[in-house]
Amino acid sequence: MFDFLKFSNDVGIDLGTATVLVYVKGKGIVLKEPSVVAMDTNTNKLLAVGLEAQRMLGRTPGNIVAIRPLRDGVISDYDMTERMLRHFLDKICKRRIFKPRVIICVPSGVTEVEERAVIDASLQAGASKTYLIEEPIAAAIGAGIDIAKPYGNMIVDIGGGTTDIAVISLGGIVVSESIKVAGDKFDEAIVKYIRKKHNILIGERTAEEMKMRIGCVFPRTEEDKEIRREDIEIRGRSLVSGLPKTITVTADEMFEAFEETSAAIVDAVKAVLEQTPPELVGDISTNGIIMTGGGALVWGLDKLIQRETGIKCSVADDAVSCVAIGTGKALNNIDVLQESKRKNKYR
Ligand code: ADP
Ligand code: MG
Repeated sequence: MFDFLKFSNDVGIDLGTATVLVYVKGKGIVLKEPSVVAMDTNTNKLLAVGLEAQRMLGRTPGNIVAIRPLRDGVISDYDMTERMLRHFLDKICKRRIFKPRVIICVPSGVTEVEERAVIDASLQAGASKTYLIEEPIAAAIGAGIDIAKPYGNMIVDIGGGTTDIAVISLGGIVVSESIKVAGDKFDEAIVKYIRKKHNILIGERTAEEMKMRIGCVFPRTEEDKEIRREDIEIRGRSLVSGLPKTITVTADEMFEAFEETSAAIVDAVKAVLEQTPPELVGDISTNGIIMTGGGALVWGLDKLIQRETGIKCSVADDAVSCVAIGTGKALNNIDVLQESKRKNKYR
């Protein structure tokens, strides 16, 4: 067997609620775009996908819709999801002589019918074979964990729409939980807070930027305060005058706004730990909890989980790409995965 054939023929796709990433073996991440599509409702024509479509969110005239078809971790718009996937796959598969093997990671809430649609879209777009993989398994592999060992590891993957918490041992999921509280909920919490406290309406994109720049869920030390920005100036619409208004928002306010959202994530982690067999809890306290996904980057979330559970918690390197990398790498272990996992169906 020629090595380059194996080399170029494996593709891993992380079909996330907020971001789609494509990993090609030997090349790494080759595509990273928002999971957004825009279409003309009159003609049913696809207008834009990814970054271009994201720019249209909240700015479309009546006949155009820009949506995130996987927003809540379920495929709310089946047709759009399929078209989006096909668009990205076309980009990757075009002009390839050898059809790639594709492994796709879908949000944990999708149904069997939806999984089928994803597989069909992938095959139609030119994959030679398509496999599905569960998100926590992909995240664990991407974070560098040897999942085949009889050793317990806990992965907390916080995406845009869902937080997936799982305990993995021997290549399979022992206990897991998926909640619809993740990155988006932090944005929503900011919008709500600013409206209530300052009487100003801001958009979700502004809220997301605030979350990234000054958001925090754990008390900051004096040193933290020196390194990180403590406030930000934002523009919104005053609910009193109806006119644009600029205000300064502080990190302390973010802390207040995030309280409920971060507590929900901590509670879910605790609930999974309570259901985990004692031997595995022992392993987890030795290894520590590993966080992946863009939502894991909300400042202080690792520290908060560590304080609340008493278990060391850390964010994986390149947290946003972990699932995609793990998905691509999983093709090496496809046999192990097929034996142990319900969802790793193939054709
Ligand atoms: P999914 O797997 O569901 O597609 P991602 O893993 O791409 O989601 O994570 C998306 C979420 O991560 C979004 O809510 C985004 O705002 C958030 N995010 C990304 N980078 C950061 C950051 N630096 N700080 C805080 N949140 C972040
Ligand atoms: Mg994800």
